[in-house]
Amino acid sequence: MSILSNRINNLAESATIKMAKLGRELAAQGVDVISLSLGETDFFTPDFVKDAAKKAIDENYSYYTPVAGYPELRKAIAAKLKRENNIDYNFDQIVVSTGAKQSLANAILCLVNPGEEVIIPTPYWVSYSELVKLADGESVFINATIDSDFKITPEQLEAAITPKTKLFMFSSPNNPTGTVYTREELAALVAVFEKYPNIYIISDEIYEHINFIGQHTSIAEFESVKDRVIIINGLSKAYAMTGWRLGFSASNKEIANAIDKLQSQVTSGTSSITQMAGVAAYNGSLDSVKEMQKVFLKRRDLVYGLLKEIPGLKVNLPAGAFYFFPEVSSFFGKSVDGEVIKNADDLSLYLLNKGHVATVSGDSFGDPNSIRLSYAAAEDKLIEACKRIKFALEQLKDEKTVPAV
Ligand code: PMP
Ligand code: GLU
Repeated sequence: MSILSNRINNLAESATIKMAKLGRELAAQGVDVISLSLGETDFFTPDFVKDAAKKAIDENYSYYTPVAGYPELRKAIAAKLKRENNIDYNFDQIVVSTGAKQSLANAILCLVNPGEEVIIPTPYWVSYSELVKLADGESVFINATIDSDFKITPEQLEAAITPKTKLFMFSSPNNPTGTVYTREELAALVAVFEKYPNIYIISDEIYEHINFIGQHTSIAEFESVKDRVIIINGLSKAYAMTGWRLGFSASNKEIANAIDKLQSQVTSGTSSITQMAGVAAYNGSLDSVKEMQKVFLKRRDLVYGLLKEIPGLKVNLPAGAFYFFPEVSSFFGKSVDGEVIKNADDLSLYLLNKGHVATVSGDSFGDPNSIRLSYAAAEDKLIEACKRIKFALEQLKDEKTVPAV
């Protein structure tokens, strides 16, 4: 019998992090692995942000911070939400954390009682359903497929609502599909939420600035639901600061106070140095973000062209984020050297071990027919990775045609 709690025994390890680990292990054995598994930009943190952190060290920002973050930082985030998103928040509605992942966990743990339901459109980001499990909640999935550009309809949303529904949770731009909901599409979902005033909405906007269709729309811009929305965002993607660990939530005051209380027992405030870097980032220019967006658009078009040429892959054109989420079910049942590819997990492992490209199986994103590739890598690596994937997939043959051994 395990000494560990049921809570942790029932929890899955993050699939993105697991695949990144497997890729690193193979690379450590001297294999030239191209890692398209972890969603992490290959850019550097902007210099003006790094300078602010160096200054904070020299000025002895080395003490505990307020749990919810320095007021100066919370004010800079509130100003950003007004300036970039046209949403009014007072600084005391913002709680800074050690990353968007922690802010998601905070919001779920503060809102969900055991047995309450959380509606999550699939494909979703790997941690959503596991965090709901941690809160003893029940995930209710709405299936969106490549044929609907991975978007759900208001009818699907309404059909999933029950008296136990507490939360709806989604990301736009979406990880893993890159799908972006337009203002009109969000308005149609808002019309449903207006009928159900007890449902709260977690809006994960971490890819806000990696958006190729123009202006990002937040569901919190709709006044009729704003008070029930918890915006989640942070520095990881827009400012290439994954390792610095800074996220935030923006919500009504009651939820913000609850999150502050939870953090006071679990982590306290995030790093003082990171927070001062965050003040510079949120008060600073978006020039580096815009440059990064241009590069991502170029890479998206490059990879789209290359993936489209691979027979058997069904590919959507992502409108944001930095992932492709091709449908790969046509390879299920095929084999090479006696190794049968039964599902997306097998295919992803096959691509790693034989093609030396690390991807992530769609299973943990709630879609067992796809795999995820991140294109946050240099162009030459992306070209080589697509070449390797194409070659590896071409080796897979129908079982019937493989002679028996
Ligand atoms: N939400 C989504 C959709 C993500 O892809 C990620 C991964 N960066 C996070 C949240 C967590 O981000 P952070 O690094 O700020 O914890
Ligand atoms: N969010 C990134 C991803 O989806 C980083 C990994 C993680 O935080 O789980 O790959």
